[in-house]
Amino acid sequence: MKVLVTVKRVVDYAVKVRVKPDGSGVDLSNTKMSMNPFCEIAVEEAVRLKEAKVASEVIVASIGPSQSSEQIRTALAMGADRGIHVEVEKELPPLVISRALKSIVLKEKPSLVILGKQAIDDDCNQTGQMLAQFLDWPQGTFASKVKVVGEKLQVTREVDRGLETLELRLPAVVTCDLRLNEPRYATLPNIMKAKKKPIEKLGLKDLNCEPSYGLQTLSIFEPPKRQGGNKVESVAELIEKLRNEAKVI
Ligand code: AMP
Repeated sequence: MKVLVTVKRVVDYAVKVRVKPDGSGVDLSNTKMSMNPFCEIAVEEAVRLKEAKVASEVIVASIGPSQSSEQIRTALAMGADRGIHVEVEKELPPLVISRALKSIVLKEKPSLVILGKQAIDDDCNQTGQMLAQFLDWPQGTFASKVKVVGEKLQVTREVDRGLETLELRLPAVVTCDLRLNEPRYATLPNIMKAKKKPIEKLGLKDLNCEPSYGLQTLSIFEPPKRQGGNKVESVAELIEKLRNEAKVI
């Protein structure tokens, strides 16, 4: 079976982001960019399915600027077979991304699509769910274990009441949680091999997608700076401050 896995280029998790002074977005100049950590987990899971001979081909798709090909190459070095890069200049919301992914799915006909549960830049946690809806496919979100059993897929999810295992018929959409696996580091020989693997370049037009579906980001601003705390000498002083300064009691 074919597996499609999606990767997003995001600001590295260790970088403190800077908002542009005009509030139009985040300043990405000289900022370290990486593959979204949840997407690394998605790639790892797809590659493990291939190593277990459950998957016959792993295709990696990314929608983003020209540099997103770096993240596709990383996924290819981890073991994916080929890439699809939909080149777009500006950041697009999950509604557009999931419609574009739907077109890729209809073209490639994978039996399984694996996404990260969320992108750490927008924290939307929407793309997988929207994609499943647009395709009218079953979805297993926040997967901490994935097992293919014949024509079905068992997905274990961590929910408030414990571990829940769902059985989905294939084709299906899965989004990965942190505990699904530990992604590998690409080895140097595999990084070299990945340079020869094909990456197909597409535009949104090739997928019959518009760059916007009625959504527009109006402004982005930093949250207010946290006020420093105070130490109190006694419970009585704490109650007095809560009552007279914070006015919460
Ligand atoms: P989000 O809904 O934005 O939190 O993203 C959830 C997941 O959807 C990510 O972990 C990716 O696997 C996928 N995704 C989101 N945006 C993109 C993109 N521009 N290109 C490829 N995959 C994406």
